[in-house]
Amino acid sequence: MGASVAWHLAQLGLTNIVLVEREAQLATGSTGKNAGGVRHQFSHPGNIALSIESIAMMADFEARVGMPIDFHRDGYLFLVSKTSNVAAFERNIALQRQMGIDVQWLSPEDATRIAPGIDVTGVRGAAWCAADGVTDPNGVTMGFAKGAQAKGVEVVRETEVIGVKLNGHRMAEVQTTRGSISTPILVNAAGPWAKAIGRYCGVDVPVEPERRHIFIATPERGGSWDAAEWDGRMPRSKVLVIDFESSFYFHREGPGLLFGMGDPDETPGFDMTVRWDFLPKVTEVAVKRLPAMAEAAVSHAWAGLYEMTPDHNAIIGPSPDVEGFYTIAGFSGHGFQHAPAAGRILADLITGRDPNFDLTPFAFDRFARAVKSGELNVV
Ligand SMILES: Cc1cc2nc3c(=O)[nH]c(=O)nc-3n(C[C@H](O)[C@H](O)[C@H](O)COP(=O)(O)OP(=O)(O)OC[C@H]3O[C@@H](n4cnc5c(N)ncnc54)[C@H](O)[C@@H]3O)c2cc1C
Repeated sequence: MGASVAWHLAQLGLTNIVLVEREAQLATGSTGKNAGGVRHQFSHPGNIALSIESIAMMADFEARVGMPIDFHRDGYLFLVSKTSNVAAFERNIALQRQMGIDVQWLSPEDATRIAPGIDVTGVRGAAWCAADGVTDPNGVTMGFAKGAQAKGVEVVRETEVIGVKLNGHRMAEVQTTRGSISTPILVNAAGPWAKAIGRYCGVDVPVEPERRHIFIATPERGGSWDAAEWDGRMPRSKVLVIDFESSFYFHREGPGLLFGMGDPDETPGFDMTVRWDFLPKVTEVAVKRLPAMAEAAVSHAWAGLYEMTPDHNAIIGPSPDVEGFYTIAGFSGHGFQHAPAAGRILADLITGRDPNFDLTPFAFDRFARAVKSGELNVV
C-alpha cells in the first residue's frame, strides 16, 4: 500500500515523500506472505470496483510501471456446498455481472474440467471467473517502489516510526528510529500494525492482526506435479480453487502446490510462528477435495497476518480527527490485489483531486455509525 501510494503521488508530481519501512526489505510484511491471488469475485460492490481497476493495471503493469510481475490469468473457482451459500453466490454473481465481469455458475462436473483432480462430493456448484488470477506480490511492490524512487521519492529501510507530534489537531512531525521528519501529511500504510500508528496520533484505527498459514507441497515421491503420472489428478494451470465452506484453497506454484486454510480457532495476535499442529486439520480437508494430496509432502510453510477490520472492508482516507493523517489499511486478507486502485485513490485525495470513487464503505468514521454490510467473501 505504501509503495503504491508513493508511486501514484509521484506520477502526480508530488515527490517530496519518504517511504519509511521498519524491516531491511520492502514487502516482508503481509505482502511478502500472501498467496498472490487477484479476483473480481467479491460480494461488496466497492471491492469489485477496486478489483476491476487494480486487475486492469496488473495486466498492463510492466508497460505502465516497468516491472514484470508474472501475471497469470487462469481464473478463480469457488466451490460452494451449502444451499444458503448458493443463494449468496447467485446474488454476488448477478452483482458482478451487472458491473461488467464475466462470472459464471458452473455445475460440479464443469468445475472438474477447469480444475482436474478435484473431488466435488457435496458440491452444489461453482462460481467461475476466467479473468481472475495470480501474480507476484514482491514484483508489484518493487515495481511501485522503484518507479517512485526514480521520480525522487526517498525509500528508507530499517527505520521504524515510533511516534508522532501534532500541532493541535494537525500533523506536524513523524518520529523514527533514525530521526524526525517534519511533515503535514502522514499516510498510515502499516498493514496489520496500522493500529499502533493510529495510537501515536490518538486515533483508533480498528485493524486487528490474524495469523494465516501457507503450505507448499510437492509429490512425496519427488519431482513435479507436472509429471505425466499426475495427469487428470492435479491442475496444470494456476487456477485458484477455494472450497468456500472450509476456506481451504490452493493453486499451482512452480513444480509444487501452494495451499492454505483459515483456522476458526485463531485469535487476534502478531505471532507468525508456523503452527505445525494445524497442518493435519488442513490436510484432512485437502485430501477430501484434492485426493492427490494424500501422496504429497509439505516442503515448506510460513505464516503471515491478515489485517482485519470489523466489517472486512479496508479503511481508505483521512481521519476526521487529525488533519493530515491518512490511512490505507485493514484490507482484511485481500489487500495485495487492491493496492493499485487504492493507492491511486488515496493519491488523488491527498492532492485534492476527485478520486471518482465512492469511498463511503471505506471511510474512517463508518464504524462510529451503524456499520452496514461489508465484505462476505473473505477467504
Ligand atoms: C497467508 C496470507 C495470504 C494472503 N493471500 C492474499 C491473496 O491471495 N490476495 C490478496 O490480495 N491478499 C492476500 N493477503 C492479504 C495481503 O497480503 C494484505 O492485504 C496486504 O499485503 C496488505 O498490504 P499492506 O501494504 O497494507 O501491509 P504490509 O504488506 O504488511 O505492509 C506494511 C508495512 O509496514 C511496515 N511497518 C509496520 N509498522 C511500522 C513502523 N512502525 N515503522 C515502519 N514500518 C512499519 C511493515 O514492516 C510492513 O512492511 C494474504 C495475506 C496472508 C497473511
